[in-house]
Amino acid sequence: MSITRVAIIGLGLLGGSIGLAVRERAPGIVTTGFDANPDVRTKATERGLVGTVCESAAEAVREADLVILCVPVGAMKAAAADIAATLPPHAIVSDVGSSKQSVADDLAAALPGATVIPAHPVAGTEQSGPEAGFATLFVNRWCILTPPSGADQGAVDALAEFWRKLGAKIEIMDPQHHDLVLAVTSHIPHLIAYTIVGTASDLEEVTRGEVIKYSAGGFRDFTRIAASDPTMWRDVFLHNKAAVLEMLGRFTEDLTALQRAIRSGDGDTLHELFSRTRAIRRGIIQEGQDDERPDFGREH
Ligand code: NAP
Repeated sequence: MSITRVAIIGLGLLGGSIGLAVRERAPGIVTTGFDANPDVRTKATERGLVGTVCESAAEAVREADLVILCVPVGAMKAAAADIAATLPPHAIVSDVGSSKQSVADDLAAALPGATVIPAHPVAGTEQSGPEAGFATLFVNRWCILTPPSGADQGAVDALAEFWRKLGAKIEIMDPQHHDLVLAVTSHIPHLIAYTIVGTASDLEEVTRGEVIKYSAGGFRDFTRIAASDPTMWRDVFLHNKAAVLEMLGRFTEDLTALQRAIRSGDGDTLHELFSRTRAIRRGIIQEGQDDERPDFGREH
């Protein structure tokens, strides 16, 4: 099947970026969109995030071949319910949520009989809202599709082709495996960043002024992640609970082992770990997933 009309529900960072990327890289595709927040709809119209900003989700999806839900994972069920009555029978319903099993369950329950193919573009920034989106967000980034077993292969191929047009690379994964992989590569790092920034701001013997003044020592790199959208991340932890708790258990054990190594003066253990982690950074750069310049290419 070919996708010529796309409806985007939720016009923040992800939804806005999809709209802008379609405009720039696939201008033959017609886009409509809706956001529950009227201020976001106004901003989306001003920035031209989609061709037509509609006044309801039901109206936005009426003629769509593909509907992409770009709302926080805790809002997926309600967003799906809003489109149920007017969703064309042939349309593919997808999403961009950061956890996949809960979204798959919510969409299947809200849209019985619909062709649902959940997806997660592993691309983003710490910014959110309709001003944050940009057309190149997905270029050279992975988009993970998690089709349910028995999914229509034509629909999976069409969705993959859509994301390739936006510059993404495609991976197909089982939703539970996705949730474990993303727990360790994204969700736990966010939890650690939220924790360390919270701990530093709560310290009594170190002033907040000192924390900010000396942040170039490493702290500021955590603050970028810890500035991420609170609603989105609350929902990620509540909806990927099992995988996050499993990975957090392993992380806690490893942290305890490091604590023991420091206490007992076991430099070999520390040095061996720090050497292995350096190699991971080199791998990320070789894969083109980050800037190879020192300190992320910041000017000094
Ligand atoms: P965002 O910038 O906050 O945009 C989400 C928008 O959806 C907001 O304008 C929100 O309005 C609106 N909304 C909430 N419930 C709605 C509903 N029922 N119907 C219509 N609109 C609704 O968030 P985002 O960063 O684009 O994230 C969207 C999704 O992408 C999330 O599921 C997230 O897990 C996933 N994701 C995010 C990133 C990232 O780095 N940010 C990366 C990959 C995937 P209000 O603000 O008024 O509630």
